[in-house]
Amino acid sequence: MAYKSDIEIAQEVEIKPIEEIAETAGIERSDLELYGDYKAKINYNAMDKLQDREDGKLILVTAISPTPAGEGKTTTAVGLGDGLKRLGEKAMIAIREPSLGPVFGIKGGAAGGGYAQVVPMEDINLHFTGDFHAIGAANNLLAAMLDNHIHQGNELQIDTRKITWKRAVDMNDRQLRFIVGGLQGKTNGVPREDGFDITVASEIMAVLCLSNSIAELKAKLEQIIIGYTYDDKPVTAGDLYAHGAMAALLKDALKPNLVQTLEHTPAIVHGGPFANIAHGCNSVMATKMALKYADYVVTEAGFGADLGAEKFFDIKCRLSGVKPSAVVLVATIRALKMHGGVAKSELDGENLTALEAGLPNLMKHLENIQDVHGMPAVVAINKFPTDTEAEINLIKTRCKEYGVEVVLSDVWGNGGRGAEDVAKAVIRLAEGYKQHKYVYELDDSITKKIEKVVQKVYGGNGIQLTREAAREIDRLENLGFGNIPICMAKTQYSFSDDPSKIGRPEDFTVTITNVKVSAGAGFIVVLTGKIMTMPGLPKRPAAERIDVDEQGQIHGLF
Ligand code: ADP
Ligand code: MG
Repeated sequence: MAYKSDIEIAQEVEIKPIEEIAETAGIERSDLELYGDYKAKINYNAMDKLQDREDGKLILVTAISPTPAGEGKTTTAVGLGDGLKRLGEKAMIAIREPSLGPVFGIKGGAAGGGYAQVVPMEDINLHFTGDFHAIGAANNLLAAMLDNHIHQGNELQIDTRKITWKRAVDMNDRQLRFIVGGLQGKTNGVPREDGFDITVASEIMAVLCLSNSIAELKAKLEQIIIGYTYDDKPVTAGDLYAHGAMAALLKDALKPNLVQTLEHTPAIVHGGPFANIAHGCNSVMATKMALKYADYVVTEAGFGADLGAEKFFDIKCRLSGVKPSAVVLVATIRALKMHGGVAKSELDGENLTALEAGLPNLMKHLENIQDVHGMPAVVAINKFPTDTEAEINLIKTRCKEYGVEVVLSDVWGNGGRGAEDVAKAVIRLAEGYKQHKYVYELDDSITKKIEKVVQKVYGGNGIQLTREAAREIDRLENLGFGNIPICMAKTQYSFSDDPSKIGRPEDFTVTITNVKVSAGAGFIVVLTGKIMTMPGLPKRPAAERIDVDEQGQIHGLF
């Protein structure tokens, strides 16, 4: 049976004017800035009027360790919003904006899938309201001012060998990872090694996503460290007087974007920080705003729960004061079979032995959500057309034995109707709301924080610091950065730092290769292994299949 592609489904469904969607959400017309008929920005000052309103309940959608087979967090989050609405609840979705890198690379769009999508999916996937370009521009303004400062005499004594700030573009372009700029003599700048990050990996993205106001945005931008002087003192964006102009470039990007799902549930799609060197969650503004307008807000955190959920709690919730009420852990039978050792090409047939062997990955994530983070959880089996009855029953049995609720989610095939069981479970769980727990305390030392995450969340024995990492930890603690959250940059494919250790690895240590402060965003990035901040395109990029016709209609975008 041939299935319709995501874009075919999205283009067939009737889309409502965004003003109507805003009205159902209770967003006043005067707080909307229209970007065409189907997209709008919500003025950040709208929040001021809502201060007395009680917050809705926040539901976090996270997943088992990802595999190339795909888990479907965004799809589940979108469908769950629709499911809650079908049950008569006032629901809203808060998710990240897609980056052009994955859209043109392997992964394709990030606006959900099947009958659980946010629309207009072509726009959301391609430029949307221009937020990422604004972030790129702010990033590159700082880079330009930095190099100009050096060119004009280098009053601050910036050591060009210790510059940490890179340029940014929202594209997968490995050619730009390492470059040399400023060539061709005195009038053309100062030669130095440089490089580009993809825009979603820029610290500006993390800053924007953690700011509650223009004032806070500016204050955080001011603290961004761009490099060090000859005598190792940090140099900030504030030292270059760049933060005001950078904030000016970001004034609209800071406003959350309103769109709708295929079933007309209001969705705020805003911000999209990387889930390795940043915290991988949509903006705090979007989440807080949605919580004021709706009774249930469904949100997503990037990668598997070991990275996404941990950073959601320890960074986003801690820094913003947001409190979630329940967690949905998404699992697919295909991915669990991969954790059980099956190759991607052999996932289609029933294989109960492999499924059983892969289940410990799901169980460890569940233990973490319930015991480490202290949250009530439901397992949502994201149903694929290839799943068999016996396979579904096996997961259900094992989850019940473990004492956790488990439901089938068929939002890809059926939209909100396919999420009613998940929605009911979520409503029940959120009723018995518990206060979540943090994995570490802010006044733990940096090393202690890392150890706690590795031991409690990853299930490892401990950590090993390289000499560079140990030295840098000392230096950052001396500079006064010892008491901020840590942001783990680790492979998403394993609980360990070795992507080949799938399932539930045991008896491992995690090697910390280095640490780096994101002083503007307000966390210490902890690097394990090689972390890519500028991806490349695959041999056959998705871009080869994307096209536009004379009417301006986009084709081939999944
Ligand atoms: P994540 O947010 O976890 O990265 P997405 O929700 O973006 O995952 O889904 C990744 C891809 O998998 C999308 O192209 C989506 O259409 C597809 N997908 C998700 N769920 C299903 C499903 N149940 N059946 C078939 N395809 C699915
Ligand atoms: Mg996603």
